[in-house]
Amino acid sequence: MFSFDNSYARLPQTFHRPARPAAARAPKLIRFNQALAEELGLDLEGADEARLAQLLGGQVIPVGAEPLAQAYAGHQFGHFNPQLGDGRALLLGEVIDRRGQRRDIQLKGSGPTAFSRNGDGMAALGPVLREYIVSEAFAALGVPATRALAAVATGEQVMRETIMPGAVLTRVAASHVRVGTFQFFAAQGDEQAVQTLAEHVIDRHYPEARKAENPYLAMLTMVAEQQARLVARWLSIGFIHGVMNTDNMAISGESIDFGPCAFLDEYDPRKVFSSIDQRGRYAYANQPGIGQWNIARFAECLLPLLDADEDVAIEAANGVLKAFGDVFQEAWLDLFKAKLGVTGEGADDIGLVTDFLELLHQGEADFTLAFRTLSKVAGGAGDETLVDLFTASPPGLSGWLTRWRARLDDGRSDAERQAAMEAINPALIARNHRIEEAIAAAIYGDYSFFHRLVDALATPYAEDPDTADLRLPPTPDERVTRTFC
Ligand code: AMP
Ligand code: MG
Ligand code: MG
Repeated sequence: MFSFDNSYARLPQTFHRPARPAAARAPKLIRFNQALAEELGLDLEGADEARLAQLLGGQVIPVGAEPLAQAYAGHQFGHFNPQLGDGRALLLGEVIDRRGQRRDIQLKGSGPTAFSRNGDGMAALGPVLREYIVSEAFAALGVPATRALAAVATGEQVMRETIMPGAVLTRVAASHVRVGTFQFFAAQGDEQAVQTLAEHVIDRHYPEARKAENPYLAMLTMVAEQQARLVARWLSIGFIHGVMNTDNMAISGESIDFGPCAFLDEYDPRKVFSSIDQRGRYAYANQPGIGQWNIARFAECLLPLLDADEDVAIEAANGVLKAFGDVFQEAWLDLFKAKLGVTGEGADDIGLVTDFLELLHQGEADFTLAFRTLSKVAGGAGDETLVDLFTASPPGLSGWLTRWRARLDDGRSDAERQAAMEAINPALIARNHRIEEAIAAAIYGDYSFFHRLVDALATPYAEDPDTADLRLPPTPDERVTRTFC
């Protein structure tokens, strides 16, 4: 089915351990992503549902696969763990997709590996479905992320807070090299391995870095810029990753590891959903600072490669960290100006954005609906459609609307502006309560709502009357306050 072309398996033995998927008792295909399979150029001849379930549930190892668990370390909630690694995932191999891009094919939840420590190596159905839903929602929103090729129920039971059905997600990524992969070798003082990994990353993700005078510094700079832009994209869609540990930050610039993640309903910059983030380290508004902190940990690993003189290396790394802040700030402002329908440069564009966000916060307005409704107000809808989204209309809102209108002076027609705003302000996001609803039904064997949700999220900028219910914020009883991984 896959035409594997494996490169990670060729890296030194310290980079990985052989792995074998555990034979699932009764694998059953939940969903297969046909469009992604085509993008990957998979040969699906003879691959009926039962066959796909065997291959993607781990019962049968596909021809050409060299299953391995990748070694990595990582800072988890600020504390360094020198030994993590794929404890519930394995890399089957790599394929070259239709655009010539190398992509990892990983099974997540396919049983224990050499890195499982005390874990069972399995994944519960709920987190597999959440990752499927969110990664495919990201793809439709145009935000870089790993993809979901399939979800397979294993027929196994997994012990979590309660006994849960087990499942396997087939994850597709530009690569699974993380900041933590570099940290694994750097912590052991293995400079040779750090260099080998850096070469792999340059070849695979940043070949333009070769042209620079200092390719390692160029690579670090590109990784930092990708990450800064990515976090800006997250903020622009109201996304909270939830576990921005350094082992969950991909060097490719893709969002990875959708565990206890969530989208904001009402806007609150301090919002946290993750049950394991007790101190709010990974709250919505902390994400840029944490992204920069993670890049600092990455830069530390590369210091010996940046320059033989440590002071020179540190100065170069500090320059990159500063650039992270600048690139983030610019990307964030560009995105939020576009969300407000504002073009060109105004004297107080930052104030216009932050004041709107502050009004949303005060009035507990739904983040997604507020920007979507503002798009319609730009097209001629009445101000009251926006005001209705606030619990109590904040006194500053009408003054803000006056300022905003005065700034819409670029000669575009109202209809043009509305169309441009609706192309960046999604109508539909993967709301928590809907994800939980899909999971709750699936646990009882009914996947229909899961399928409906995934299908609807493929067109997040449309307002299909059939999906109007999915666009609504939660009612007080539907509200989900905690997410689990
Ligand atoms: P995550 O929270 O998904 O980023 O995982 C952090 C680390 O814990 C990684 O090394 C995982 O492989 C490992 N891990 C998480 N869950 C399990 C599990 N059920 N069994 C074994 N290892 C796990
Ligand atoms: Mg992880
Ligand atoms: Mg996870």
